Order: sequence, then C-alpha cells, then structure tokens
Amino acid sequence: MLNPKVNGTKISYYFICHRKLWLFDRQLQFESDFSVVEEGKLISETTYPREHHEIQLSDGAVLDFYDKQHKVVHEVKKSDKMEQAHLWQLKYYLYYLKSFGVEDVTGKLDYPKLKKTLDVVLTEDDELKIQEIFDDMTSIINQEKAPERINKKFCKTCAYYEFCWA
Ligand code: SF4
Repeated sequence: MLNPKVNGTKISYYFICHRKLWLFDRQLQFESDFSVVEEGKLISETTYPREHHEIQLSDGAVLDFYDKQHKVVHEVKKSDKMEQAHLWQLKYYLYYLKSFGVEDVTGKLDYPKLKKTLDVVLTEDDELKIQEIFDDMTSIINQEKAPERINKKFCKTCAYYEFCWA
C-alpha cells in the first residue's frame, strides 16, 4: 500500500541522510543545491529527451524515461556514489506502478557519464522492505526535532550544508 507522505525523492534521501529527509519534508530548500539539480536534469534530458519520454506520477515525481514497449523504467544519474539510494528510489517507482496495476515492469539505472547500466527488479522481499521503509520514514518525518547531522564528504554538496554546518 502506498504512503501519501512518501515519494521517490524522499526514499532516496532516506538512504542518504535522515536529517535531509526531515528537512526536505518541511519544504526547506536552499539555493546551493540548484546547480546540482540542474546538472542532473541536463544529463537526464540529453540522455532521453524530455518531451518524448518523461512520465509525471501523481505524487509529483517524474520518471526519466518509461519504455512502454519493453515495460522498463529508466532512471538517469550522474554518478554511482549513492547507488543504494538510487536503487531503492527506482524500486519504489516499480512498486508505485504495480500498486496502480502496471505489473511486470523492470528498471534500469543509467549512468551515462560512467557508461554503466544496472538492471533492477522488484522482488516480494523488496515489497516487504518498502513497507518497513515507509514506517521508518514516517517516524523520522514525524519527529519534533531534526535528526542529528551526519559528517560525510557529500555534506559539502548537500542543499542543507550551510544550514547544518555554517
Ligand atoms: S549537510 Fe550532511 S548532515 Fe546536513 S542534511 Fe545534508 S547530508 Fe545531512
């Protein structure tokens, strides 16, 4: 069952940093992330031209490219440093489509800059895990205070860097 508080971006933040998830849920956004977001969009658009392939989901998320003929969702990423987050974001999209009766869809994680592609499927165990993730995300989002900072290299490219570390 889908959770209205969850979307693909939040799933990815859940795997990156719980504090980021909490801040994002409160719609706190900062300019420092714009260049990263814009670069990500540019890579996506030059890999699969936007007007031909993107699909907007009802939760506001946009699939980079859905190959209807082969029933494959493509998610395009710049680097594979956050592969777990990308993987579960894509599994969530497969789960999302299945919940609307679109069955037997698989995924491909595309890293055009690295010339690398990862095949992704949604298993029964994944579906159980996604339910657990939904529960855990809900309890994180509902916390009164932001979760503790994590001190990682990638903090420097995070939209909330100034907020967390200035
Ligand atoms: S700067 Fe680091 S600690 Fe702060 S939200 Fe981003 S990833 Fe999390």
